[in-house]
Amino acid sequence: MDNKAVILIVDDVASNLHTLATVLEDKYAIKVATSGQKALELTLQEPKPDLILLDVEMPIMDGYLVIKKLKEDTRTKHIPVIFVTANTQVEDEEKGLQLGAVDYITKPIRPAIVQVRVATQITIKLQQDELLRMALRDKLTGLYNRHYLEETSTKMFANAKRHRENMSIIMCDIDNFKTLNDTHGHLIGDKILQKTGAILLKKRRSEDFVARYGGEEFIFVLWKCNEKFAQEKAEKIRLSLSKIDIEGVRITASFGVAQLNKQHTNFDALVQDADTALYRAKDTGRNKTIVF
Ligand code: GH3
Ligand code: MG
Ligand code: MG
Ligand code: MG
Repeated sequence: MDNKAVILIVDDVASNLHTLATVLEDKYAIKVATSGQKALELTLQEPKPDLILLDVEMPIMDGYLVIKKLKEDTRTKHIPVIFVTANTQVEDEEKGLQLGAVDYITKPIRPAIVQVRVATQITIKLQQDELLRMALRDKLTGLYNRHYLEETSTKMFANAKRHRENMSIIMCDIDNFKTLNDTHGHLIGDKILQKTGAILLKKRRSEDFVARYGGEEFIFVLWKCNEKFAQEKAEKIRLSLSKIDIEGVRITASFGVAQLNKQHTNFDALVQDADTALYRAKDTGRNKTIVF
């Protein structure tokens, strides 16, 4: 798939789909659905649509019901919807907009108008995606930031408690990083942080979560894992980080590991234990992993 924005066109009449697709296919990747049910299915499949052009009058599930379902679902509620309809009554337009549509196009369509209105909505959608990406990610390493860690970990913590699942975390802190910056410069320091981030990402299983917690501190959240597994993981990461070589500059790092237990009433309490273990690692010579 190339980088074109994706538009899902929904209409029960094939010739209508064809007309709209012809107008838009040069600039966008087009997906089509001939029923409301199919539209909901396709909306959840990759590549997910950046915009939905939705017919109102369709048998079984009409456009109004489709948009209601899209707006109820957190996975799809952010996708903009433009109604495309033969209904020209103001009340229809009002109803569509009230249900959350961003715009309204009437049939028979005028190609130039469709192109301009679609382009406007796609621009807004892509800007919103970019803002969201920036709000959740750390710029230097591309890892999730602390803000996103806090949101996600709160959910993971609640899930672990509810389903009595295990969960462990690793706190990782690069040793003597201030001295490294002072000796070799900030740019080398930045490159080391980037390489560290890349290694952590590579060590991550799909169900795990890794974030840049602060300057040279990182947190690894291991879903359904005990402290033994987390300790082994930390040791593997420690070994990998010791192999980083940026223009002859090497690092070591210290690790604190903690496992969820009954005393933890929130995620911060778990972090606190990992931090205590990390402090002990620092205090007893660095370049090691300590389990709380
Ligand atoms: P310790 O072994 O006890 O962890 O010592 P340390 O020097 O690593 O810890 P300290 O907290 O004293 O210093 C952390 C340093 O990390 C200070 C700060 O300048 C540096 N740092 C934080 N963020 C960045 C960054 O984005 N880029 C670079 N190059 N350095 C950073
Ligand atoms: Mg129709
Ligand atoms: Mg630190
Ligand atoms: Mg440090």
